[in-house]
Amino acid sequence: MAIYFVDGQFTEKENLKISVEDRGYYFGDGVYEVIKVYEGELFTAEEHLNRLVESAMKIKLTIPFTQQQLLEIAKKLVQDNQIGTGHVYMQVTRGAAPRLHQFPDPTVAPVVVAYAVNNPRPEKAIDNGVAVKSVADVRWLRCDIKSLNLLGNVLAKQEAFEAGCTEAILHRDGVVTEGSSSNLFGVKDGKVYTHPATNLILNGITRQVVLKLCREQRIQVEEKPFTLDEAFAMDEFFLTSTTSEITPITSIDGRPIGTGKPGTLTVNLQKAFAIQIPACVAGE
Ligand code: PLP
Repeated sequence: MAIYFVDGQFTEKENLKISVEDRGYYFGDGVYEVIKVYEGELFTAEEHLNRLVESAMKIKLTIPFTQQQLLEIAKKLVQDNQIGTGHVYMQVTRGAAPRLHQFPDPTVAPVVVAYAVNNPRPEKAIDNGVAVKSVADVRWLRCDIKSLNLLGNVLAKQEAFEAGCTEAILHRDGVVTEGSSSNLFGVKDGKVYTHPATNLILNGITRQVVLKLCREQRIQVEEKPFTLDEAFAMDEFFLTSTTSEITPITSIDGRPIGTGKPGTLTVNLQKAFAIQIPACVAGE
């Protein structure tokens, strides 16, 4: 039986209770994180929990646990649910209260929900690359907050899926921002380009790991917006996320990128990334 953490307690999934008045349910009024687990070990947990606290601060929400307590909760979920390779999901909402847009009375306690699941690495996509579709980025202007309001992301991903693609490449008036659930990188003449960490994108933890790997490998990076037309002309393209790691993008809107196969620099970054995670998982 899966063990969940809800409202300060570890509970079997069958027994957990969430109020229908939870503001997460009504308004998407909350924040969340997904932390990868490799061989029972949390990966970049501190970075994810820092971002959870930052996202909460940005929406004026106080998490009723310290970062250390959240880490302990995540670790216990991994252990009790016998997670090998998978992830921990954690969300905090502004609690349950009658449906009024303004914040509820301060006595209403935020609700923390967390669980852990086994989830294999998407090896086929990581090895062979994926096709993506360009979709207009119609989301709000605080995409730096990892909020539960994901309708824009959901609709973009669905549009990509319906076109037989794995991910949407979002653009605002032709300027590429990020994926619906990932960050995007292009490679041109040996240089890596990605949108700067502004309010228009989520500053992905995997994005930050990749930027660090680029610095270590002395690969030149420009955190600078580029257009969809420039994206089509890139030599290589890839996306990053906690669950997708570094996934090559081999075509955009049916147009092959570079050779139409995972690029050399992308594959080198994947190898450098694999060194950071347990060898048995990365297949080394
Ligand atoms: N951008 C968006 C909109 C996302 O939802 C995600 C992850 O879910 C990312 C980027 C990648 O972030 P991370 O590498 O922290 O998983």
